[in-house]
Amino acid sequence: MTDDAERKMQFLFALRSKGVTDKRVLEAMEKVDRGAFVRGIFATRAYDDMPLPIACGQTISQPSVVGLMTQALNVQPRDKVLEIGTGSGYQAAILSHLARRVYTVDRHRRLVQEARQVFEDLGLANVTAFAADGSRGLAEQAPFDRILVTAAAEDPPGPLLAELREGGIMVLPVGQSDAVQSLIKVTRTAEGFRYDELRPVRFVPLLEGLGQD
Ligand code: SAH
Repeated sequence: MTDDAERKMQFLFALRSKGVTDKRVLEAMEKVDRGAFVRGIFATRAYDDMPLPIACGQTISQPSVVGLMTQALNVQPRDKVLEIGTGSGYQAAILSHLARRVYTVDRHRRLVQEARQVFEDLGLANVTAFAADGSRGLAEQAPFDRILVTAAAEDPPGPLLAELREGGIMVLPVGQSDAVQSLIKVTRTAEGFRYDELRPVRFVPLLEGLGQD
């Protein structure tokens, strides 16, 4: 077996052993090379199941956490998805293989520009990245079938709840940024919102306003 094939097998094995079992999610994660989203000295660790530093003091999430969040989101092929926290663009690229349309927002312009370039290089034509404060939602494209937040808020932001379509699902980490947070699944029903707590996680904080770069 080539090194590449073996690395890929180990990567998928690690995902499965951490509970990522959804076939479509595993297929999407097999298609997206995490190495394309990690730069510099950390590039050699791209296939390890660990978070890694990216520009602007942010992190690309651990692959198994990306897998579990994507699985919880239960994305359908016709869905319009909003991601808050583009970061490296890795999570958005996975979503792009599962959904009809993906919008992703980050408060750092530099991260948005770099992610756009990777989407273009990979030929991912159904993802659009914006520089904006995602806690305010993305009114011009609302409502969304699925919303994934990859930074921790103290509570689910009101504008995002409002932009979730009936029957829609939002997955987000909730809690103080310096403590253990909970991954929450919010389902919008005809009667209101249902909240399910999934697992403890640790994410960088969801901050207000645009970043310096
Ligand atoms: N999903 C990313 C990792 C996200 S790290 C990936 O796959 O690589 C969290 C990101 O959330 C950071 O890039 C941070 O800049 C961004 N973020 C924090 N607060 C935000 C806000 N209010 N609006 C948009 N992005 C925000």
